[in-house]
Amino acid sequence: MVEAAGQAVLAIDLGGTQIRAAHISPDLTLSCRRAVPTADEEGVDAVVDRICDLASDVRHQAAASGLPAPAGIGISSPGPLDQRRGIVVAPPNLSGWHDVPLADRVEAATGLRTFLERDTNVAIVTERRYGAARGSRDAVYVTVSTGIGGGVVVDGHELIGVDGTAGEVGHITVDLDGPLCGDGQPGHAEAIGSGTAIAREGRALVERDPSSTLAALARDAEEVDAALVSRAADAGDEAARAILDQAWIAIGAMAASIVNLLNPEVIVFGGSISVHRPDMLEAVRREVSRRAFPIPARRVRLERAQHSDDVSLLGWLPLLNERIADPAFDRVAAPKLEET
Ligand SMILES: [Zn+2]
Repeated sequence: MVEAAGQAVLAIDLGGTQIRAAHISPDLTLSCRRAVPTADEEGVDAVVDRICDLASDVRHQAAASGLPAPAGIGISSPGPLDQRRGIVVAPPNLSGWHDVPLADRVEAATGLRTFLERDTNVAIVTERRYGAARGSRDAVYVTVSTGIGGGVVVDGHELIGVDGTAGEVGHITVDLDGPLCGDGQPGHAEAIGSGTAIAREGRALVERDPSSTLAALARDAEEVDAALVSRAADAGDEAARAILDQAWIAIGAMAASIVNLLNPEVIVFGGSISVHRPDMLEAVRREVSRRAFPIPARRVRLERAQHSDDVSLLGWLPLLNERIADPAFDRVAAPKLEET
């Protein structure tokens, strides 16, 4: 059973490929689900309009179904973003988005209080309230899929940072001279451990060794992606196996740094790679016990996420109810932050 968490909310997950929305009742029931393609190539205004339409749709269907009226709208978005001002800053996977005041625009269109948060920060709220990190006061969520993202809770509070960018665990440096990350810097965990990095190494292997199992699989596949490298490794391709081993070590080194820095009770691993590769978590356990200080390494639990697709929606139920009452997130009453 889930304890009641204030009023119903309307949650939206703005992803690079899909926008998803649902009504969430105080008992955590998700209703009136909707999903549409993001289609960011049509421009910022078109995407914002789609978000507003989706919100109105869900709201009206919920009202027609007799569900409780939502207290507001929570939007999960890729970072970087400014959650206090409700601004999407410049996510790499939403082309053309620069300093978009998304919360204000949705609020103006719907008349409902609207809040913005990074998708992984909503995910840690979900897992801490309703999932693998339930009951913990110090917890970290790590998603491993095309990229590596994270959300952090310290002493029961989401860690946001002065600019809202805290928790970007994927950009911890694990190799001073390593491959370049999407942000142009060498050796970030994401540049070695993410699905994108595994695919890049897989393509290099196919070029280097046309007689490899991976190269044979690649001839019948549309593209060399992390899933194909996984299949080759499972079929006995040693070089493909080595790519995965390197990726898992990078994620393990990143996790060890998190353990040393934050001494969390639990790190929850979500995202498609965590789901499909149980060997990743085993390797991460090994690296944490090798690389982190003994006391926090013994303490920390490393768990698979209990929520998958809805991990960026459910957390809005407690989060939005908290933020409605928090003056730091009141964009009308709060003085505008001075530019520094
Ligand atoms: Zn990076």
